[in-house]
Amino acid sequence: MASATKRKPSLKDKVSRLPTSPGVYIMKDSRSRILYIGKAVNLRSRVRSYFGKSNDGRLFIRLLMERIDDLDCILTETEDEALILENNLIKKHRPLYNVRLKDDKTYVSIKVTLSEEWPRVMVTRRYKAGEDLYFGPYGSSTAVREMLRVIKTVFPLRTCTNGFFRNRTRACLEYEIGRCTAPCVDLISKKDYMEDVSQVVMLLKGKSRELERIIEKRMKAASGNRLYELAARYRDQLAAIGKVFETQKVEEFRLGDIDAFSIIREGNFVAIQEVLVREGKIISSRTHSFRTELRRAEVLSSFLTQCYLTDRYIPPEVLCDSDFRDRDLLESWLSEKRGRRSRITLPQRGDKAAIIRLANRNAHNSFRIERDEQERMETLLESIEKHLELPNPPRRIECYDISNFQGSLAVGSMVSFEDGKPVRDRYRKYRIQTVVGADDFRCMKEVLERRLERGIKDGDLPDLVLVDGGKGQLSSAMKALKKIGLSSLPVAALAKERRRRQTTERIFLPGRKNPIALAQDTPESLYLQRIRDEAHRFAIRYHRELRRRDAMKTGLEDIPGIGKKRQQALLDRFRTLEKIRGASTEELSEVIGDKLALDLQSTLKQRPTRKK
Ligand code: SF4
Repeated sequence: MASATKRKPSLKDKVSRLPTSPGVYIMKDSRSRILYIGKAVNLRSRVRSYFGKSNDGRLFIRLLMERIDDLDCILTETEDEALILENNLIKKHRPLYNVRLKDDKTYVSIKVTLSEEWPRVMVTRRYKAGEDLYFGPYGSSTAVREMLRVIKTVFPLRTCTNGFFRNRTRACLEYEIGRCTAPCVDLISKKDYMEDVSQVVMLLKGKSRELERIIEKRMKAASGNRLYELAARYRDQLAAIGKVFETQKVEEFRLGDIDAFSIIREGNFVAIQEVLVREGKIISSRTHSFRTELRRAEVLSSFLTQCYLTDRYIPPEVLCDSDFRDRDLLESWLSEKRGRRSRITLPQRGDKAAIIRLANRNAHNSFRIERDEQERMETLLESIEKHLELPNPPRRIECYDISNFQGSLAVGSMVSFEDGKPVRDRYRKYRIQTVVGADDFRCMKEVLERRLERGIKDGDLPDLVLVDGGKGQLSSAMKALKKIGLSSLPVAALAKERRRRQTTERIFLPGRKNPIALAQDTPESLYLQRIRDEAHRFAIRYHRELRRRDAMKTGLEDIPGIGKKRQQALLDRFRTLEKIRGASTEELSEVIGDKLALDLQSTLKQRPTRKK
């Protein structure tokens, strides 16, 4: 057996005692950090193959074997189950040597909730088979939201939740501003409402010409009857439909729904192009790029599984440009998930091959752009490494900031950037627990301790800790690192300095009396500023959210008889606490009844007005 088992005989023992059934194996380093997760039909023989002489000598396996210190396994009933478990664990732990799908956000679709008595139309990222109708997916969520906004101006369907809808005694603001026809209080008949719904469906199906003809007819009839205001509304609807339809012009193929994937690789840099075809139209194309030591076939298998683990729509056919490990297994899993057959094919000719060629062309293009970008980023990180005297290029930077208002509701934020890009699912927000009053330094210390102690446990630490501020913040950060035994973790503080209309960024480093001055517009400075500003924005947003919640809370809570639903009804109607205070007894009675209105008024009178 290879070096890993020589270093640690217990590992050899563990491998020989592994069962021969299907399951998932988890390889860890000496700090219990997960290095690699894999699945196998026969756990013992699969794991043994890494250690035996017959391993294929790939760099990835050599590196893995040098670092492995421990091994766990989870048994499953079938290989199918192992496939799902493997990818769920990869998603959760992001092991160093697995393919990690960074951008695993699913596409946005539009859903028409036909399963509801009064259907709504909404944007969703999830797909669930059933009565509801789905349109899309669409490449840009901004464009979809704009499209929906326009649709809503033409067809004012309800937007409220079912709970909210059920408890209405009067229409909400949406009705007042003409964005809903208020089915909640029967201001529209079921037949008329459903007609609006079917016209939305028609529009989303791309039958805008038919719809335009209907509305044109109505417009003429309205103007013939001198209903000019109504005719003007129809005119606006026609203009809005034109706008929606314009965004849907796309290339057509004679195919149904298809997802196509093309992969290219140079060294350990991989780009996978994903092209989506719906009802014969290409509706989206995007690139996923990452570095990996895994083989092309393994990459594609792992990538596709992670892609389809999300609640996304599964088409009847998935096209790939090359074969890969577990194709049959993945195909049967997709079919099971879809409820009908879904095939994974490698087309050689015809329209399908044309889609693959198109994906491949795009992959090459994105590959070039992405590689240039990565090279630029590597140079930038090396330069930051030099400037800040770091041991390595700071691939992963975490930046921390504190926000409070005169010492109240203090919060901390942490944002994480990896290779130049924000990794939003690693962002964290902290409610300060141990500091009273406005003491940013102690707040910073608390946040760092909480985050990094957790990081030690999970084996999840950054290459550089950046704090927003100067000497004081840096010294708090250093105290925190010392306390938890991480004194060697690189740390820096970034402070803005304004002098005679000139702004410079100053970086404070441990053991250095004077800060390093960075000109505002150098790439290094701009990158660090971007990270710091993001931490600042994130902290402020959280702080505002808490203040808003607090403002809502202290006003109406603990008033006998005013539970959550009534609080919500009051806020829906009056919007702010001050307006509730200013409302007459009659106005309040309309929402919560006579007796509670009087109780509420007398309680609020005894309470001081909140400072803004
Ligand atoms: S008026 Fe408001 S509460 Fe009533 S259905 Fe429309 S959105 Fe819902």
